[in-house]
Amino acid sequence: MITRKEALKLDRADPFARKRKLFSIPRGMIYLDGNSLGVMPKAAPARVKHAVEVEWGRDLITSWNKHGWFHLPRKIGDKIARVIGAEEGSVAVADTISVNLFKVLSAAVQKRHERKIILSDSGNFPSDLYVAQGLSQFMADGHTLKVVEPEQVLDAITEEVGVVMVTEVDYRSARRHDMKAITARAHEKGALVIWDLAHSAGAVPGRLMEVDADFAIGCTYKYLNGGPGAPAFAFIHPRLQNEVMPALVGWWGHAKPFAFAQSFEPAPGVTRLQCGTQPMLNMVALDAAMDAYRGVDMVKLHAKAARQCQMFAELAEERCGKFGISVHGGRDWAARGSHVCLAHEEAYAVMQALISRKVIGDFRAPNLMRFGFTPLYVGYADVYDAVEHLYVVLSKRLWDKPKFKAKAAVT
Ligand SMILES: *Cc1c(COP(=O)(O)O)cnc(C)c1O
Repeated sequence: MITRKEALKLDRADPFARKRKLFSIPRGMIYLDGNSLGVMPKAAPARVKHAVEVEWGRDLITSWNKHGWFHLPRKIGDKIARVIGAEEGSVAVADTISVNLFKVLSAAVQKRHERKIILSDSGNFPSDLYVAQGLSQFMADGHTLKVVEPEQVLDAITEEVGVVMVTEVDYRSARRHDMKAITARAHEKGALVIWDLAHSAGAVPGRLMEVDADFAIGCTYKYLNGGPGAPAFAFIHPRLQNEVMPALVGWWGHAKPFAFAQSFEPAPGVTRLQCGTQPMLNMVALDAAMDAYRGVDMVKLHAKAARQCQMFAELAEERCGKFGISVHGGRDWAARGSHVCLAHEEAYAVMQALISRKVIGDFRAPNLMRFGFTPLYVGYADVYDAVEHLYVVLSKRLWDKPKFKAKAAVT
C-alpha cells in the first residue's frame, strides 16, 4: 500500500504540478468533482471583469466587433479542437449538450432518413436518451430509440440503424467505449455516429479525426473548467459539414446573418450549428479557461489520471473495504475515464459527511459516490488524504446523522 510520503514524492516529480497554480482551489479543500464542475481558472475573474466593465459597461454594442465577441465562439472552438483531436474550424461552441445533441441528431437522422433506428446504450447519460425520445416523437415518422447494454452496442449495429448515439466515458462506471471499433462498424453498416465527449474532453486523449467520427458533442464546464453554464461544443467531420442541416437553426447560423433575409441559408461549415446570440460573459471565461490546456500532452495527462484512479481505488478498498465500500466498474485503469465510483449502502450520507470535511465528490443514484481525478490540478497527496477522510467517516460512523441524510435538489 502506498504511503503518504510516497504520494508526496510523486507530486514532486509530477510534470503537471505547475499547472495547479493556474487554478483557484479553496484552501484545505480536496476537490474531486472537476468532472461535474471544474475549478475556477485564476485567469477567469480578470477576463470576466474586463468583459463586464469595459466591454459591456463602456463599449456596449460595439464590442461585438471591437472586442471580437462575434467570432469568439469559433476561436474557442479551435482551442477545443486541439484537445479533442479535431481539425481547426470543425468545432462550434454554443448552447448546452442537450441542445447541440438535438441539432446533430436531427441532422444525422435526416441524412439517413430511410433508416428508423437510433441506437444507444443503457450507460448513456439520461438527457441524451430524452433528446432522442423527444426528437423521435416530434418527427412522428416511425423513428425509435433502441437502448441496449453497453457491451452489446457493437453487435446491435445492423443495417436498420441510421444513427449510433453513444457516450465515450460512462458517467458512472468510467467504462470507455472503443471509439474506433464502434465508428468503423457503424460506417461498415452505413450508419452515422454521434459521440458524447462530456466525460472525455480534457480527460482522455481526443481522437475524433483518428477514429473518423461523424459528429461529437461535449460540455466545457467539467474537465475544461469553463464555469457554471459555460457553453457546450459540437463537432462535425469536415466531409459532412456542408451536407447536413440541423432541425434547429437560427440567424447566427445563417450564411449572411446581417442581410436579414427571409429564408434560411446555412453558413458554410459548423457555423450552421449556432442558433442565436451566445452568452458572452460565460464565453470569455471559457476562453480564459482553455488556455490552461496549452501545451498539454493528453496521453501523459490521462496516464496521470489512470494512476490516480488506481491509487484511490486500491487504497479505498484496502482501508475501507471492511466498512462496505466496493469499487464500481472494472479495473483496467488505462482504458477508462478519469473518475472512480465507490458503492456503499449509505453513499449519499457518506458523501455529505465527506463534503463537510472539504472532500468534494458527488452522489449518483442509487448507491454510488463519484470521485473525479482531474490531473491538471489534483495531486497524489490529495488522493491519499481523501481516502484517509473516507476512513475516518466510515470507521467513526460520522455519516450516521440526520443532517447528512436529507437530500438536496442537486446531488
Ligand atoms: C454532463 C453531461 C451532459 C450534460 O448536458 P447539458 O445539456 O450540457 O446539461 C450530457 N451528457 C453527458 C454524458 C454528461 O455527462
